[in-house]
Amino acid sequence: KTNSRKDEVDVEGGWEVGAPVPYAALAKTFSLVEATTKRLEKTSLLTALLQLVIQRSAPGDTESLLLTVYLCVNRLCPNYVGIELGLGESLLVKAISESTGRSLTSVKSDLKAKGDLGLVAMNSKNSQKTLFRPKPLTVPFVFSELKKIAMSTGNSSQAKKVSIITKLLAACQGEEAKYIVRSLEGKLRIGNAERTVLVAVAHAAVLAAKEKEGKRWVKEKLASRLQEGANTIKQVYSELPTYDKVIPALLEFGIDRLKEKCKLTPGIPLKPMLARPTKAIGEVLDRFENERFTCEYKYDGERAQIHRTEDGRVFVFSRNSEDMSKKYPDLVEQLPHCIKDTTKSFVIDAEAVAIDKDTKKLMPFQELSRRKRKDVKLEDIQVRVCLFAFDLLYLNGEPLLQKSLVERRELLRQHFEPVDGEFQFAKASDAETTEEIQSFLEESVKDGCEGLMVKMLESEASYYQPSRRTVHWLKLKKDYLAGIGDSLDLVAIGGYYGKGKRTNVYGAFLLACYDADSEEYQTICKIGTGFSEEMLQSHWGILKPLEIQKPRGDVKIGGAKPDVWFEPKIVWEVLTADLSLSPIYTAAQGLVEERGISLRFPRFIRVRDDKSADDATGPEQIAEMYERQALAQGGGKKRKEKD
Ligand code: ATP
Repeated sequence: KTNSRKDEVDVEGGWEVGAPVPYAALAKTFSLVEATTKRLEKTSLLTALLQLVIQRSAPGDTESLLLTVYLCVNRLCPNYVGIELGLGESLLVKAISESTGRSLTSVKSDLKAKGDLGLVAMNSKNSQKTLFRPKPLTVPFVFSELKKIAMSTGNSSQAKKVSIITKLLAACQGEEAKYIVRSLEGKLRIGNAERTVLVAVAHAAVLAAKEKEGKRWVKEKLASRLQEGANTIKQVYSELPTYDKVIPALLEFGIDRLKEKCKLTPGIPLKPMLARPTKAIGEVLDRFENERFTCEYKYDGERAQIHRTEDGRVFVFSRNSEDMSKKYPDLVEQLPHCIKDTTKSFVIDAEAVAIDKDTKKLMPFQELSRRKRKDVKLEDIQVRVCLFAFDLLYLNGEPLLQKSLVERRELLRQHFEPVDGEFQFAKASDAETTEEIQSFLEESVKDGCEGLMVKMLESEASYYQPSRRTVHWLKLKKDYLAGIGDSLDLVAIGGYYGKGKRTNVYGAFLLACYDADSEEYQTICKIGTGFSEEMLQSHWGILKPLEIQKPRGDVKIGGAKPDVWFEPKIVWEVLTADLSLSPIYTAAQGLVEERGISLRFPRFIRVRDDKSADDATGPEQIAEMYERQALAQGGGKKRKEKD
């Protein structure tokens, strides 16, 4: 079966060992992956491609696999480096028109009809008569051209980008143009989430090693080796989220030694552990029955992961792995004050909170959000920031993820020193009863916090799990107790023109959640409440340049009809009175019922510029919120099991 899969994704005649990977093999695989909705099949197609790449790489060549994987996840470097594609529609329309000789108007009207620039590019190319066969595209060439495009800045960068794209498109054959254009847009839209690619990398490595060593395994053994491999790579990548390190180590040392070779490294941000919302203190006690837990203040600031490398460099990373060292030069400067002599390299998980210069009282998040995001100069800083550390993930050369929270917290307290107004440990209490938790919660709110975080303290359940949202961390916000419930983070994908006083701006917006499995945006509500005139003006400024002719192919629209569509980029935090089933919107369709779920009386809270569109709330969470509400109201349907 594996061999027939390999034949399916291979190009005619294959390619020689040591030769660059033909881009045509990727395009062929992408097309097959796009054609199926089955996750296992997607994984197995990608596995076959990656296995071919491994088997046809010259000894010592790690680049071929690395670049192929980057193109499969449509990235050019690790997330935290921030070189991104995601070019605007008008620039791509121009490039398609130039490379195929079609007029701008005809490309645009084609786009209006098809809604997918990739398809437009492919069809325009394929209906073009060419006199000669272009030299086939290769993976390293496509990768380097994409990188040039992403990195070109300055006045003449538009023209430069159009010229590189035009040349790339001129060399495209078959379906290549479709995927190149989608790559340039920023999303392949074939439903190959990063998790799928990771599993495929592990499977390909296991299978390639097996074939190389001529091993014969019974079915069960093979299945368990594949499963182990997938678990290993997922764990390793969550600690060290950079293919630049993981892929070469995988090829050199094999999957069995990957954990030993790739560990959390200061300077490379890991995805933070997340918390589940809880509605009541009783629920906390139910979850943690017979377990030791701790309650900490839930500070209202911005998450900050502070790294100090072995050679003394300091980084501040955001929740989204963005380097914020330029936004917080004061944090970088203050840091040495709280470090003891014994403390060399480390990674701290913390919340950066605005405080009043004189009284040292905590200030709400809004104060922090007034700070510029880039190139902040120490002397210009008005809003002071104090760091509240709640976890230690790495210390003096050793990762601590797999130590209990009791141990991690102890090490944190041993190796760092509180400094008034600069660095504090998150205030914690070992409250156990409902009354104790209630009074600690009230205290936290009085001190200017959002509520509490309740965390498992001992055993494996308290290990730090990067990027996971488990029941081992619960958030208990004051809003939940007031019956308001958790907020949602949603993407603005459409606008409605304003009426009356608001005719020069959008008066309302169409919002969507994001399904990471199917990689699609699902519409959830129209929102027109919670905006001041000033805010509407600012949203107009930000969203107007993101207007597109047609909704993108990865938007599941349902019956929504906004006046204009936007590139899905901007995330807002939104509160809602409640959730209801809807014949119009598509969020969480099929999870609770065939109908989607919509928000009633949604209200805008704030822009979440620390989240990207892919971090928006997912349909599973929305279905869960709907179910809780139905349960609280004494009834409702249970969610359908997902296959
Ligand atoms: P998400 O759960 O998706 O991160 P969010 O970013 O909106 O959602 P919240 O739901 O408000 O965040 O809760 C989690 C956040 O609370 C953390 O990401 C962190 O920034 C903040 N936080 C404040 N105090 C603590 C603490 N003591 N322990 C952990 N997180 C804390």
